[in-house]
Amino acid sequence: MFFKPIFFRGGIHPGEKEITSEKKIEKMPEVGTYRVTTLQHIGVPAAVMVKVGDHVKKYQKIGKAQVKFSAFIHSPCSGKITQIKKINIRGREAEEITIENDFSGEEFERKGLRNFTPEKLQELVDDLGIVGLGGATFPTHIKLEGKLKTIIINGVECEPYLNADNRVMIESTYEILDGIEILMTTFDMEEGIIGIEENKVVAIEKMEQAVKGYSRIRVQKLPTIYPQGAEKQLIKALLKKEIKSFPMEIEAVTLNVGTILAIYRGVTYGTPIVERIVTVSGEGIENPKNLSIPIGTPVKDVLNYVGVKEDIVDKIIACGPMMGREIGETEVTSKGMNGILALGKEKFPPKLPCIRCGRCVDVCPMGLLPLEYDRLAKKGKYHQMEKEFSLSSCIKCGNCEYICPSQVPLMEAIFLGLEKGRDRDD
Ligand code: SF4
Ligand code: SF4
Repeated sequence: MFFKPIFFRGGIHPGEKEITSEKKIEKMPEVGTYRVTTLQHIGVPAAVMVKVGDHVKKYQKIGKAQVKFSAFIHSPCSGKITQIKKINIRGREAEEITIENDFSGEEFERKGLRNFTPEKLQELVDDLGIVGLGGATFPTHIKLEGKLKTIIINGVECEPYLNADNRVMIESTYEILDGIEILMTTFDMEEGIIGIEENKVVAIEKMEQAVKGYSRIRVQKLPTIYPQGAEKQLIKALLKKEIKSFPMEIEAVTLNVGTILAIYRGVTYGTPIVERIVTVSGEGIENPKNLSIPIGTPVKDVLNYVGVKEDIVDKIIACGPMMGREIGETEVTSKGMNGILALGKEKFPPKLPCIRCGRCVDVCPMGLLPLEYDRLAKKGKYHQMEKEFSLSSCIKCGNCEYICPSQVPLMEAIFLGLEKGRDRDD
């Protein structure tokens, strides 16, 4: 059957994927010290389960999810806890656990799952600290609730530079398909759709070939347009349905390809999330790579490993250039960090006043008026951003700022509005 995906409104074509698209995933060598934080997910920080002086094994739990909306944290190495300190992660209190690696590789016992029931699988996913690895970091066990008919696998990865998901689809094709099959069988789902942007030619070829052995799963090519990978846009494109908040409204679940792979490895080997694939790229990187990096690795160690062209680097960005954020070298890798980019100065031309050209409005996939957020933020009228211009509908895709010819800092205005809009200002 010929399937015609529905286009969503707005969207842009930011390009620039090719630097690492053909680079095989490599393992980053172990480092001497890991600093693992207790807030790497949406929700409540995990509670520290260890104390200074304790010896921990690789895969051992070191942070406990005390409420449903949280995620367990595990040790990425065998070693000794040398420090536990309070830190602030984007305005939220959390803790950071420092582990000195003893390089013994001693592992905590892992157990996969043999008898599948929805409850047991959900419990395992929770226990292994699995969260959305596409960058959203939503605790996955919460998504596996209620009646589910359709599973949508997000292989879109629409931000420039990033190739973590692309490489996972090419290199772990059958593990992903088996992971989907396990979920579909356990939750008695009817249909599995893998959505992939059409610029990922090799991944599409491999998936289309492999999927022939899986009767309930199909691959759907999607137009290359940002933010095709955003949950609401993906569902609209594949199912022709609109959701208000969550896919479970339409008995669907959306999971990123990396998350599916984590579930497969969790079920099969009992492996928790202690590492993830990260694209380390940008014009300022000597040897751009797709790396499997232990969680809690200092960004400085990653940059030393790949080499940095200090003379041209202007900013280091975590995740993609559209939705990511500027970071310092003291930052550490986390479950949601799918990219580390060293970008040159030309990516950041000087900022000018808004000329009311309307381009930000044209590209907004949610039909919002981003220029108004800048105007209101400048006046401190944060409350009005929601009241008059529905700020909470913003999916923070960054399209508006990307397209703006004046480089108006629209995302800064949006984040300020979301943070401060809860208090009355007018
Ligand atoms: S794209 Fe930039 S300059 Fe144009 S209206 Fe929007 S904020 Fe103003
Ligand atoms: S206003 Fe929000 S949803 Fe619209 S383009 Fe900007 S960041 Fe994306």
